[in-house]
Amino acid sequence: MDILDLTAVELGERIRKRELSAPEALEAVYGAFRARGRNLNAYAAFEIDPARTAAERAQALLDRGEAVSVLAGVPVGIKDNISVRNCLTTCASKILRDYRAPFDASAVRKLRDAGVVPAGTLNMDEFAMGSTSETSCYGPVRNPWNTGHVPGGSSGGAAAAVAARECVCALGSDTGGSVRQPSSYCGVTGFKPSYGRVSRYGLVAYGSSLDQIGPLARDVRDCAALLDIIAGPDSMDATSVPFPDSGFLDALSGDIRGLRVGVPEECFGDGVEEDVRRCVEAFLDELKRAGAVLVPLRLPFIRYAVPVYYILATAEASSNLSRFDGVKYGLRAEHYNTMEELYTRSRSEGFGKEVQKRILLGTFVLSSGYYDAYYNKALKMKQMIVDGFAEAFGRCDVISLPVSPTTAPALGSSLSDPLKMYLSDIFTVPANLAGLPGLSVPCGFDRRGLPVGAQLLGAVGADSTVLNVGYAYQLATDWHKRRPRDSEEVSGNA
Ligand code: GLN
Repeated sequence: MDILDLTAVELGERIRKRELSAPEALEAVYGAFRARGRNLNAYAAFEIDPARTAAERAQALLDRGEAVSVLAGVPVGIKDNISVRNCLTTCASKILRDYRAPFDASAVRKLRDAGVVPAGTLNMDEFAMGSTSETSCYGPVRNPWNTGHVPGGSSGGAAAAVAARECVCALGSDTGGSVRQPSSYCGVTGFKPSYGRVSRYGLVAYGSSLDQIGPLARDVRDCAALLDIIAGPDSMDATSVPFPDSGFLDALSGDIRGLRVGVPEECFGDGVEEDVRRCVEAFLDELKRAGAVLVPLRLPFIRYAVPVYYILATAEASSNLSRFDGVKYGLRAEHYNTMEELYTRSRSEGFGKEVQKRILLGTFVLSSGYYDAYYNKALKMKQMIVDGFAEAFGRCDVISLPVSPTTAPALGSSLSDPLKMYLSDIFTVPANLAGLPGLSVPCGFDRRGLPVGAQLLGAVGADSTVLNVGYAYQLATDWHKRRPRDSEEVSGNA
């Protein structure tokens, strides 16, 4: 059997049983990257030397019996905005093209301590701003199910690589859906933990009140295993939260009898593609068969989520990205006469169009004349969304809805209509605004053969419950086991 067909948990088991070594597992991933890597453009970079050192270190831990995690020895791809010590961490942006992180993100440090091997950095939308992975300075990522389509974004490289067996599993980041939406477009399983569950230290900030690191993998078990390693409070991140529960993999029972699944009317109406609705309704039927009880819900505030999100996310981005000024790190313009010219030229040359647009928008909503009309109002609306969800979770244990109203759009079709692209985030941004855990699981295909994802949301801290519902579904179905034909075979199949 191909090593890359194994799930992360299966691979970890073989490594523990000495059927395979950590360096062998790494070489399998690196081989897949070299054979097919440029085709999907899923990787930003694959620096093999530090990965080999990490794999040898992991193997040494295993040999001494010190690596106790179930994923010890398993290579994990890392999105290009999560710091990996001494490796390029460029956020797929020209402004950071030579930047090497001088430290590990806390999530990466925890992976290393558990004997997991950071292996390759994954392509993405520049600074995680986008829904298609087309704004990368490395060029667009392609969807392995049909290379004429986008993989989703912004963790599109991670989702494409996991789906195409170019990596085993990955860490992505989710500010408004960037783990869940590409997972759905590529037919893999992705999880955004409750806000504060995973330390953001070392994740290059986009919208700090919304950002969370989360796993993308073949199935819920792999997501839970990764979460077990990366979760937990961190003194380096003042917003990390000491949630009382842990042991996500062990908590998966698959028993959802009597569990109440809220079904929001607003998320199954106009604007949702027929095939998406059909697949998510079939997903709900399956949960019912497993013993869950469906509860009709109304979430009227959902329609405010996109405008609120794009005000808050861009406001925070405009502040966070001010550090890229051509002085401290990253690209510096060659020609300038004054300090101001140094700033403006470096930023104009270094940032792509989408990022510049968002910095402008964010600066506008924070400016003195408009602060109350936009930023403050959006903060109030955010609280309304938080309260609305709290009330809904009084009536149900999880909420189920599509991940996206559509399947993956064709390459090039989204950036020309940015408003439409922003609106397509409608079902993913509410979880970030309210800090909720959200899971995306594959639940079928549209008539063109593109994957559809179903989403499960839980109350803040109920990550385990959400994962268990997804697990129950994956016990009963095999959508998550489908694989795209190898990317060489599908290229040209636009
Ligand atoms: N598509 C959303 C945006 O562009 C979400 C991105 C993300 O989660 N990083 O902001």
